[in-house]
Amino acid sequence: MPVKEKKKTKRAAGQVGTLAAKVIAGERAALAQAITLLESSAEFHRADQAELLKVLLPESGRSLRIGITGVPGAGKSTLIDSLGREFIKRGSKVAVLAIDPSSSVSGGSILGDKTRMELLSREPHAFIRPSPTSGMLGGVSLRTREAIVAVEAAGFDIVLIETVGVGQSEIAVRGMVDCCLLLMLTGAGDELQSMKRGLMELADILLMSKSDGANAEAAERLSTEIKLVLPFLRPFTPGWTVPVLLASALSGEGVPELAQSALSFRDCARASSQFDAQRRAQNEQWFEERLSFELKRKLFAGDTKRAERYQALKSALQQGASNVVDAVEELLSQA
Ligand code: GDP
Repeated sequence: MPVKEKKKTKRAAGQVGTLAAKVIAGERAALAQAITLLESSAEFHRADQAELLKVLLPESGRSLRIGITGVPGAGKSTLIDSLGREFIKRGSKVAVLAIDPSSSVSGGSILGDKTRMELLSREPHAFIRPSPTSGMLGGVSLRTREAIVAVEAAGFDIVLIETVGVGQSEIAVRGMVDCCLLLMLTGAGDELQSMKRGLMELADILLMSKSDGANAEAAERLSTEIKLVLPFLRPFTPGWTVPVLLASALSGEGVPELAQSALSFRDCARASSQFDAQRRAQNEQWFEERLSFELKRKLFAGDTKRAERYQALKSALQQGASNVVDAVEELLSQA
């Protein structure tokens, strides 16, 4: 999906304040508009973005942020549809965001292209946002991080972040959530061998997905195998014992237990001050990402030639036609 041309207007004085007030009042259209503004790479949006974030920030931070990871086809979006509704049943407001570091290559906004999370999307207490396209300057995790600020300011107290890409996205999502849920696909044989130990060590909750019908037995077997391996892995959150759960997003079985487990995790991490420590560390990552993004934006401001060259060099690097050192030197030295 091509990145849309943003309208080249800076909002008039006071307009950002009005937008922020509407977001804080929970107006969904304003929330969508605010996230769109925050996603822009354009220089002329810089001041408005900063102003908006400054107003929203004091209103943010009060949600439980849950990352949902797992290979494509593991059942992430089906589970979010079900888990999101479970949290709403318990009185929460649920926002669903996505992170897709591969979108700079595919240009895709995968979450937005499919009719997914059909039941959840009809809930008045749910807000679902497609994955951001990376835009010219990258910064995909920055986009999701700042969208979290916006949805929290709008009163969403559960934020579910779906990883859409593979590989990098699990690491990226770990750096912005409180609790990380890894979906494990059963029925593929050789499960444990093919499973990356590193990914399991990033998770706070392990879930055998699609535990129903013909797959139920395999899911049960996999959970037994994992429980044997688990004591040899290092838990990501000290003091928390990673549970191995079974659920079927289709039948809903196991989903209330999963929601409860995430809430227990929050209580445990808060009690041990891990929760706040992790948020502070993530704040530092946000600082690094924002600084890097703003420096790039400054470098290319009003210099379309340099911006074009940046894109060309990125393509050249992907094709092995240039090297990183030369590429950076060239960009910095261009008059
Ligand atoms: P994602 O790529 O990880 O988001 O996976 P999806 O949620 O799109 O699910 C992939 C496929 O698995 C779809 O055809 C779903 O209908 C199916 N699926 C998802 N959850 C379940 C489940 O709990 N049980 C069964 N039997 N199938 C499921």
